[in-house]
Amino acid sequence: MSTQTKQIGKYKVEVIRDKCISAASCVAIAPKVFALDEAEIAIIVSQDGHDDETKLLAAQSCPTMAVIVTNTETGERVWPPQGED
Ligand code: SF4
Repeated sequence: MSTQTKQIGKYKVEVIRDKCISAASCVAIAPKVFALDEAEIAIIVSQDGHDDETKLLAAQSCPTMAVIVTNTETGERVWPPQGED
């Protein structure tokens, strides 16, 4: 994985925009990773603004499970739990 030199962790976060209800708890927990765009929908501003633990906490804070966390080393989905989206 030496090509992803900028990434400080192994977790990648994504926002399912259709699920986002603008609660902004992800932004509150990880403001260097998440932001709200002009439509008040969360966007990813950087994958390496916070460490993996903080990114996962931010994802888990989302009331609609709109944030998906993937382990880029194993390809496994870390959050949300399988079968709950
Ligand atoms: S916590 Fe979830 S619903 Fe709230 S802004 Fe972030 S992605 Fe959207």
